[in-house]
Amino acid sequence: MWRETLAHRLETRRAKSLWRDRALYRPAGDAGLIGSGRRLHDFAGNDYLGLARDPRLAEAQAEGAHRHGSGGRASHLVCGHLSPHHALEERLAALTGRPRALLFSTGYMANLAVLQVLGDGARVFQDRLNHASLLDGAALAGARSRRFHHADLADLERLLTRAPADTARLVVSDGVFSMDGDVADVGGLADVARRHAAALVIDDAHGIGVLGEHGDGSAGFRHPVDAVPVLVGTLGKALGSAGAFVAGDDLLIDALTQLARPYIYTTAQPPGVACATLRALDILAAEPERRRHLQALITHWRTRGAALGLPLLPSATPIQPVLLGDSTRTLSWARRLHEQGFLVGAIRPPTVPRGRARLRVTLSAAHDRATLDELLDRLAALAAEEAS
Ligand SMILES: *Cc1c(COP(=O)(O)O)cnc(C)c1O
Repeated sequence: MWRETLAHRLETRRAKSLWRDRALYRPAGDAGLIGSGRRLHDFAGNDYLGLARDPRLAEAQAEGAHRHGSGGRASHLVCGHLSPHHALEERLAALTGRPRALLFSTGYMANLAVLQVLGDGARVFQDRLNHASLLDGAALAGARSRRFHHADLADLERLLTRAPADTARLVVSDGVFSMDGDVADVGGLADVARRHAAALVIDDAHGIGVLGEHGDGSAGFRHPVDAVPVLVGTLGKALGSAGAFVAGDDLLIDALTQLARPYIYTTAQPPGVACATLRALDILAAEPERRRHLQALITHWRTRGAALGLPLLPSATPIQPVLLGDSTRTLSWARRLHEQGFLVGAIRPPTVPRGRARLRVTLSAAHDRATLDELLDRLAALAAEEAS
């Protein structure tokens, strides 16, 4: 019976153009891939600073593995907590202006941990467009998430006002929304949270390394620990490595260390990975030109994209969606671009709301302006073809 059930669910997905292909790629150059025998410019990944293939990270990782072992061997609380993990936690606390940070193997697990511990017995208020891992974390805590309209502080306030006075409250938002690219009004959220005695969680997976004066993200130094007591960042995007962290004060970090099941019951990340991340942080500090180049590319994309009449969303980050609405249309544009040597994400429901399917174009410091122009021209040509 279970076979029929699964087969039926899969058929339904396929019929709705929601099937996800897992293509096989190999790297080609700094910002290229080879897939299906074709050389592709990668405008789909999250390697915003072009660090994922930097040989310095690979060297640090290999050297770390030689020195500390390939595997983490045990959880942090048993005997898996090694010096590179510890050094990395200190660096991440310093990067974000927090007293402490706790390292996790993935951002998904960091969010499960935060929500499991802080959501326990609390009312959880989430932006409607929050990342799936934040919603899953609330489910793990047995808490029901109330979702407020995207970036709508008045709606959040309305929900908070209705919550019973004697329960803990948790306000949760992405710092940069992963499918839209817009940046949360962190100051506004912090204000509302403070007035309603709620803790604020910002998941800055796409902000760390990109936003802020030194790559400290959308919260970081501009919104210190009393405004944003719980700051989550990931290391597999702009920092080109893997893993994640939660930054905050002693109370928060002690609570996560003692109580968070996704922290306690898992093997520490391979120490070489922590070494690679440490090297990425060195590069982030030493080569600000990467962030400047990325910023110039974003400005260029938006200016020329608007002039060409492309349906861009209001994003000042490397995530630059082209809103097409319909899933079939989105897939067809992505396929045409693929034939022309450009890989972009075709993002469809349930990742985004129905009617909001889009190409998710991501820019990287590894790109150059000429390649951006070429992609912009191809997009404009697809739009013109449809109009005629
Ligand atoms: C990618 C992402 C995560 C998950 O991080 P991983 O390290 O890939 O597990 C969490 N939150 C947001 C907003 C993300 O974009």
